[in-house]
Order: sequence, then structure tokens, then C-alpha cells
Amino acid sequence: MYKKMISLLLAITLSSILLAGCGSTGQPTGAAESVPDTAGAGAEPEEGEAENVVVDPALENEVKVTSDEPYVMSGDQTYFIEDKELNNGYKMPVLGLGTYALTVEEAENSVYHALKDGYRLIDTARAYNNEEGVGRGIQRAIEEGLVTREEIFITTKVWDTDFGNAGSAFEDSLARLGLDYVDLVLLHHVPRPNDEEAYHELEEKVEEGKIRSLGLSNIYLDNDTFDRMYEAAEIKPVLVQNENHPFFQNTEFQEYIGQYGLFIESWYPLGGRGFTQNYFNDETLLGIAQAHDKTVAQILLRWHVQAGYITIPGSSNPDHIAENYDIFNFELSEEEMQTIKEMDTGHGNFNLRQ
Ligand code: NAD
Repeated sequence: MYKKMISLLLAITLSSILLAGCGSTGQPTGAAESVPDTAGAGAEPEEGEAENVVVDPALENEVKVTSDEPYVMSGDQTYFIEDKELNNGYKMPVLGLGTYALTVEEAENSVYHALKDGYRLIDTARAYNNEEGVGRGIQRAIEEGLVTREEIFITTKVWDTDFGNAGSAFEDSLARLGLDYVDLVLLHHVPRPNDEEAYHELEEKVEEGKIRSLGLSNIYLDNDTFDRMYEAAEIKPVLVQNENHPFFQNTEFQEYIGQYGLFIESWYPLGGRGFTQNYFNDETLLGIAQAHDKTVAQILLRWHVQAGYITIPGSSNPDHIAENYDIFNFELSEEEMQTIKEMDTGHGNFNLRQ
């Protein structure tokens, strides 16, 4: 009994000493948190921004995003529409609108609808003869306050017959688009005569601040064009835009250029005009689409994004444009990704290999 009393007294004394010790720091927990962390001061949110913080309950304490960042909440899940960080530090959306075969008027309307629906990446080319329409669609969306120029990513391409005067051909594209700069300019087809010279002329436009990133198109792993162009480039390309879809996958080339931090951007992501029914009637894809309550087009586009590609499905139909962007609220399982991987035939629909 006596021993127990001594122990109790000792315990009380010890607790008092410890409590006093805490107090001697002069920093109750709440006060410590209010002391500004000078090292992290640059990361302090701007005034008012804190109110926009959205916390996904499922990820609480792990991920906090501001409402400025693109995300989709579906049920208990938050799906992020992650941009790709290019090898020069610029960011590029993973899904955009392709405008091949659209008239000037169709291009204007399609670009406008796409930007309204949340798209931030638009792909055109001098060869599509619709840059003016693309520019007008962008202008309409900016004027209506739907987007700012800085929020969107515009790609155009220099056609191979212009490789002898790529700089001025690009200036013409810039004027038709009505922009001060273009985010990405591609050499539309390589190899072609004067391709290295054309690339160097575009590098000058990067130096002048009129182009942010450069890229190549229609190169596959079966020739040395990529290595030659990459070696010659003083400003390294950020991606290669190629025909790419489940029947014709760029897996090995993706790995190869991935070593240099480049991405593949898929054209013909739905198989291409005249070929889409081969996919839309495919039993395997229809089964996967049914399982997710999605369309085959959405399954294909989700596959592109999950497989690490950037993609630009083309359409002038506002319903299809909206449908094609609605792929950020579900995920394909590993088994489904594997099933689609096994659909590769090695044959493209418009294989521009040399
Ligand atoms: P795509 O695979 O995107 O298919 C387009 C076809 O699918 C069109 O007929 C369209 O009406 C239809 N479609 C689109 N969404 C649909 C939906 N949800 N349901 C049903 N049908 C739908 O082919 P694309 O447009 O030729 O290629 C995509 C883009 O890639 C082009 O628009 C262009 O910007 C680019 N591209 C680049 C090159 C190159 O050489 N670099 C070549 C071809 C295309």
C-alpha cells in the first residue's frame, strides 16, 4: 500500500515536470501552426484561393487540389485529368480535338464546342486548310470568357512542300490562326527533303518566342529517321505524332522515344475516317464498353490515355465531341488493358511508313 502511494506521488511529480517542460517552449500547438514557414512562403495560397480547395473525402490528407485544376468526381472517386509534362517543362493535355477534314466553318464550330466542353488541346495543320476556322473558334471561346489563351494548347504543322521555307510557312499559319504564338509545331511528314533545314528554321521561331515546342510526325521504328532528326535538333522535339490505335500499336517506338522523354501522340485514335466501324462493331470492345456503360469510342480513347499516349480524336459533331471528352470518370482494368494490347495486328489503316 505504502509502495503504491510512493509510486503514485512519483507519477504525479513526473507529469507536472513534463507539462511544465512543454509550457516552457512557449509554443502551444495552435500557436506553432500560425508561425509562417518562411521556407515554404512561396507556396502560400493566394488570397481567396483557400476557399476553392476541394478535398476528395476518399483521399483526405493525401491529395488536395484547387478547383482550378481539372478533375472529375464520380461517386467516391476523384479522377484527375493529368497533363503530360513535356521534356522542355511545358505541360500538354492528354486529350484534344483533331480537325483533319473539317471545313473552315466546321472547324470554327467544333473548336468552340470542344473548348466549351472542357477540351484544352486542339490539333490542326496547314494542310487541313482550316487554320482560320480554328483561330475563329478559339477567339469566340476567349471572347465569351470560356478560356484564356494561356489555358489552351494549340498545335499546327508545316507541310513537307514547305520544308524549303518552313519559317515563312509557319508565319502564315500563325497569321491564319490569329495567334501570337503556337504551343507546338510539327514537321508533318519526315523523312522528306530539307527536313533538317525546316526544323532549324522552326527552332529560330522558338527563339523568337513564336513557338513553344517542336515535334515530328509519321516516323516509325523501322528506319533511322528519328535518330537522325533527334541528333540534328538543337531544340529537342517533345513528341512524335503517329498513326496509333489498338490494331496498330506504337508500343516499341513509345518505349524507344520515351528514353528521351518524348511522347507519342495518336492520330487515327478511333481507326480513322472510313475505318471506325471496324472498332465500333468489335465484340470484345463492345463487351468492355457495356461493362463500363460507355461507348466503344470512349473505351478506345480511355485506352490511349491509360496506355500513356496523347490523343486527338476528330469530329465535327457536337455530341461526339462531348462524348469523346467524357472519359475521365472511369478506368480500364489491367485485364482490359491487356485484352486491348493483344489486339495489335501490326498493320495500320493509313500507314505512312517510308
Ligand atoms: P479518328 O480516328 O479520330 O476518327 C475520326 C472519325 O470518327 C470521323 O469520321 C468522326 O466523325 C468519327 N467519330 C469521332 N468521334 C466519334 C464518336 N464518338 N462516335 C462515332 N464516330 C465518331 O481519325 P482522324 O480525325 O483522321 O484523326 C484524328 C486527328 O489526328 C485528325 O483530326 C488530325 O488532327 C490528326 N491527324 C494527323 C495526321 C498526321 O499525319 N500527323 C494524319 C491524320 C490525322
